[in-house]
Amino acid sequence: PEAAAAALKAAEDYPTNHQPIESPGNTQNFLDNQFLDSKASTWIDLFDPATNNLVTRVPQSTDEELRAAVESARKAFPAWRATSLLHRQQIMFKFVALIRQHWDRLAASITLEQGKTFADAKGDVLRGLQVAETACGITTQMTGEVLEVAKDMETKSYKEPLGVVAAICPFNFPAMIPLWSMPIATITGNTLILKPSERDPGAAMILAELARSAGFPDGVINIVHGSARTVDFIIDEPTIKAISFVGSNKAGEYIFTRGSANGKRVQANLGAKNHAALLPDCDKNHALNAIAGAAYGAAGQRCMALSALVLVGDTKSWLPELAERAKGLKVDGGFEPGADLGPLISPQSRERIEALISSAEEEGATILLDGRGYKPEKYPNGNWVRDIPRGLTKPKLANVLIVKIGPTIIADVRPHMKCYSEEIFGPVLVCINVDTIDEGIELINANPYGNGVAIFTRSGSTAIKFQKNIEAGQVGINTPIPVPLPMFSFTGNKKSVAGGGANTFYGKSGLNFYTQTKTVTSLWRSEDAVAAKASTEMPT
Ligand code: NAD
Repeated sequence: PEAAAAALKAAEDYPTNHQPIESPGNTQNFLDNQFLDSKASTWIDLFDPATNNLVTRVPQSTDEELRAAVESARKAFPAWRATSLLHRQQIMFKFVALIRQHWDRLAASITLEQGKTFADAKGDVLRGLQVAETACGITTQMTGEVLEVAKDMETKSYKEPLGVVAAICPFNFPAMIPLWSMPIATITGNTLILKPSERDPGAAMILAELARSAGFPDGVINIVHGSARTVDFIIDEPTIKAISFVGSNKAGEYIFTRGSANGKRVQANLGAKNHAALLPDCDKNHALNAIAGAAYGAAGQRCMALSALVLVGDTKSWLPELAERAKGLKVDGGFEPGADLGPLISPQSRERIEALISSAEEEGATILLDGRGYKPEKYPNGNWVRDIPRGLTKPKLANVLIVKIGPTIIADVRPHMKCYSEEIFGPVLVCINVDTIDEGIELINANPYGNGVAIFTRSGSTAIKFQKNIEAGQVGINTPIPVPLPMFSFTGNKKSVAGGGANTFYGKSGLNFYTQTKTVTSLWRSEDAVAAKASTEMPT
């Protein structure tokens, strides 16, 4: 709570006071409904990406603390499982109300630690809140099936909780992604161990506090911290039955493979390269605004960011107009009024993205709009990463102040270029020209990722052809970020999910992930059996 309070205080003061937080607190573990100081020997410094002021220190939770979290969740499971569904629903109603009440506080913590604009951070909270709100309908969602399959015989199916489950979260949606797990895992009767991103755990800590106030019993929700070491513990701990992971391909493929080998259920949403196909017959104004918003919102650090634009036919001549709209976006500290996009998460991220832009230049693409080295006026104190001559020793992270990159457009990109084959995860739009939509579909389908895709056209038949033939999990028609609402499921495809995407997040499939189906067949005869001999044939 101290760390969260310090973060909030700093957030409130932020627009007028860019001073470092006085004595930043340490982030705590949350075990058995208690916020506990960690005895960690390794700590991860967490900096405000807009100023690089120290916000908090995040522990690498010790083995003892990780074991205590498992023990807490294990002990809580039998009673929580036995709690009536209506009671769990009542707790969820309160949780939902508290999230709404603390919406600004959650968003402030996100802007402070992650960097996205305050308005965008509010959207981050809302999209998670909607999952919790939908989970309140559990009483009808959990109903099983029953059928009279033969005379005196019926078969019923039930959904039962798995036990202790775990969630491992990425940095880019500090509230929404923990809320893809917390409500569904717990309302179905499981107990949860959640590991937020070590880069911005503040929102998850506030959610834990709200969950406790809502009435979740001790041990139903636990939070531990750290990086790969904590993840390895989760993967190998036999008590944990299922893992929900969202993050990069590197970590996710490893977690999926090792977690599955250990007999756990794993759902894993991974990286992306989301394409938008722009057709000459579209509503041009709407399409250009939608593309610029979805390419640069959250500084491109969304798994559904539109990062590749496929310009069909003459639409390539619209690029200067798109560049004007991108230039018009205000890059600034996330609490600044009117900011459209904030900083990147870290200096390392900025360096990686700048290197990818440079590689595009070297490979012959055109840098139509160059956001490298961008510096917002109100943040004059930065020792810019870009100002450091390459090859010299880097200054300590704390001295590298603002981590910024402005909207960038790379035109004339070819599929073999690194800027196209790699996920950039920054405010960079790569543009490829094609002559026809068929060529565009072929290009998009050849890309290994398959998260989201969009088409902008006024032609119904072109849209339907695209929808049917495109190999991506989430298709937007004249809408740029088709992240499904929680009554549906988040359905990535190809390399954007591990394991072929069988275990998708939230919606019906998310509920199935957190429950084991049990099928019971019963025979109740009204008269005693008359057969004289046991039958060895397969009953039909
Ligand atoms: P990340 O993989 O670096 O981190 C995610 C989690 O994995 C963190 O909790 C981290 O501690 C842990 N982790 C990191 N490296 C690890 C390793 N080597 N071994 C074990 N655990 C490790 O991802 P990120 O940078 O936090 O998030 C950005 C990535 O997440 C992007 O690739 C983005 O596309 C993806 N993402 C995907 C979705 C989706 O739904 N498809 C949603 C959000 C983000």
